[in-house]
Amino acid sequence: MMIVMKEGATEEEIAHVVERVEEIGCSAHISEGELLTVIGAIGDRGKVADLGLEGAPGVDHVTPISKPYKLASRETKQGADSVLEIGGRKVGGTNFALMAGPCTVENRDQMLDSADAVADAGATMLRGGAYKPRTSPYSFQGLGREGLRLLSEARERTGLPIVTELLDLRDIDDVVEVADVIQIGARNMQNYALLSEAGKSGKAVLLKRGLSASIEELLMASEYILKEGNENVMLCERGIRTYETAYRFTLDLLAVPALKEQTHLPVIVDPSHAPGRRDWVESMSLAAAASGADGIIIEVHNEPEKAICDAAQQVPTSEFQELTNKLETITSVIGKTISRA
Ligand code: PEP
Ligand code: MN
Repeated sequence: MMIVMKEGATEEEIAHVVERVEEIGCSAHISEGELLTVIGAIGDRGKVADLGLEGAPGVDHVTPISKPYKLASRETKQGADSVLEIGGRKVGGTNFALMAGPCTVENRDQMLDSADAVADAGATMLRGGAYKPRTSPYSFQGLGREGLRLLSEARERTGLPIVTELLDLRDIDDVVEVADVIQIGARNMQNYALLSEAGKSGKAVLLKRGLSASIEELLMASEYILKEGNENVMLCERGIRTYETAYRFTLDLLAVPALKEQTHLPVIVDPSHAPGRRDWVESMSLAAAASGADGIIIEVHNEPEKAICDAAQQVPTSEFQELTNKLETITSVIGKTISRA
């Protein structure tokens, strides 16, 4: 249920509602809008209705949340967009987040060269995986802690916040120490224990859509993070499995307007993994921006032909500035600006 407070409701009145909701074993999530505060009461709907909160001081009205994804639902923000603040950069609303960097951290030169180029081109954040979900157990699995150390060095040098994948709960402390944004990969979208722990970590989370997940399943997965009191969640379309074999995955750009209609959370597109080849990445990046996405997460490498993984799809750093310029044109047309510190 959604308890909508009156304009000017006091902190005591809000605290009183929260207390009543928690007394019956439900959880209360406060969302402060520009004018109004809304309290999402999650749990037994009947019990919340029985509280008769309509008459409580400061309460305007009580209304059911019609969607199964309660906290992610746009209703709970009264139609507004969430704007996250990560390392001094804004994500959501009129901000476009340009997250870029190599698929994986390979060595110091590769990571720092790529990071410098991405920073020079004016990216919002730096990506790089230290733990990689590989189809084959015999493929490179990532540098692990050494990779995290190099990411931390890259952040110190460039000032860019770091997006990096948490693959396994056993690595959460190490990842949390370095990540500004925890990436949950497509293969882990429904690893609910991992989602809850990422939620508890308090770090921002980029949740990628599973290879065969519906939009509703993605939204329900985000709920596992949000219910831990973590509001800094971004959703990411990265391509889904279809019958089509002409490319790696089918980039479902309609997920952008479909998600944005349903949720206040920022929606990011990964234009790299679906094409699987770099000559199609630019057009998918621009199309993502035109579709209304709140950002992209794109693979950029200083020497892509030598990359250990996803070599064919990584954009060379030498071409990244031009791509950024084109993105700037598209985002300005749709009323967004690339987010920088
Ligand atoms: C990645 O971002 O490098 C990655 C492995 O992504 P996904 O989980 O979408 O396959
Ligand atoms: Mn990759």
